[in-house]
Amino acid sequence: MKRTIRDIDVKGKRVLLRVDFNVPLDDSGVITDASRIVKELPTIKYLLSKGAKVIICSHLGRPKGQPNEKYSLLPVAKYLVQCLNCKIKFSSTTIGPEATEKVNNLQEGEVLVLENVRFYKEEEEDSLLFASKLAELADIYVNDAFGTAHRKHASTYSVAKLLPNAVGFLMGKEINTITSVLEKPEHPFIAIMGGAKVSDKLNVVHSLVKKCDAVLIGGGMAYTFLAAKGVNIGNSLYEPECLDDARKILEEAAQKGVKILLPIDHICSTVLSPNAIARKIKTQDIPDNLVGLDIGPNTIKAFVQEIKNARTIIWNGPMGVFEFKNFRNGTKKVALAVAKNQCKSIVGGGDSISAINIFGVADKIYHISTGGGASLKLISGENLPGVDVMSDKEE
Ligand code: AMP
Repeated sequence: MKRTIRDIDVKGKRVLLRVDFNVPLDDSGVITDASRIVKELPTIKYLLSKGAKVIICSHLGRPKGQPNEKYSLLPVAKYLVQCLNCKIKFSSTTIGPEATEKVNNLQEGEVLVLENVRFYKEEEEDSLLFASKLAELADIYVNDAFGTAHRKHASTYSVAKLLPNAVGFLMGKEINTITSVLEKPEHPFIAIMGGAKVSDKLNVVHSLVKKCDAVLIGGGMAYTFLAAKGVNIGNSLYEPECLDDARKILEEAAQKGVKILLPIDHICSTVLSPNAIARKIKTQDIPDNLVGLDIGPNTIKAFVQEIKNARTIIWNGPMGVFEFKNFRNGTKKVALAVAKNQCKSIVGGGDSISAINIFGVADKIYHISTGGGASLKLISGENLPGVDVMSDKEE
């Protein structure tokens, strides 16, 4: 068990709180979805109520190690003013004289938001010097950024070695919930995998085959598996360099008696575009000129049947191009079925979470993970540097 903020005394201390405020902004810098901020409020409020001086550090977008106004955390600081009943200050640098001066003037129960930590290339390089400059700003380090826990960056990894540390409420809940569900999953235990990037998720599918009773594969990643079986996939998305691994996974699953469900029919089009006309293809093979963009009705039926009987469910990735209305039915039906089965369900990945929200069933999901990549790594038993580096609770 990791040490949490409940286990430490923060009264009067400068607390460097690493959060994931990587929120979407529109062209005029307005936050279009503040859920990552809202979810972080309990940790911030708790620290403030215990008399901490809270210094918030986060990344936003991919500024590639350069200051870039488009990715400034200033709109986030302004948003926090509406949520917290305390003084919120902002430093236009993450480290250096301005940040140091603002930290020195920070009082108990106040918040300072530091500018985007990815404005410095040293962050992603996990520079020890950069980490030590961050550490100089604080007495205690708290990590609540589960979404970046799989990354070994200065503000998620090395800084934790330089300060007494603890995990925040969000991080603690993610680790405890996911590990406890996976330790003793109730069976049938099924995984639903979708989305576009099969290369990112092959390891996970491989490890899920060792744990689950069935793995349902939809979305763009299904076509590499179908191609591995010799099915004609037309012009659908596919990663040829993953074919061998996909074949091995299918063989291993067959040997272990683990069901792998792949699409048996499809919703296709000639192009991938918002107004593309949907064509139902009733066979597993897809004609040469078409692209598979959603799972078809018979696949939905088969997937829903598995979901209905499951006692533990892991879901990551949409079943089709759900951003386009003609190709969202598969994702919708899967979301509704997962929600209806009130079992231990863990949903991760930005798109699956959007789907859960769009279809209004978020409150029916056992655990919505804020970290897509991090939760997949945790599920597949890989180490998360940002978690491993944090101190354990004293017995
Ligand atoms: P990922 O980040 O790997 O979870 O992929 C999410 C993306 O996969 C979404 O933007 C979907 O539109 C996309 N996607 C899902 N199914 C397909 C498909 N059949 N062809 C192309 N893209 C897809």
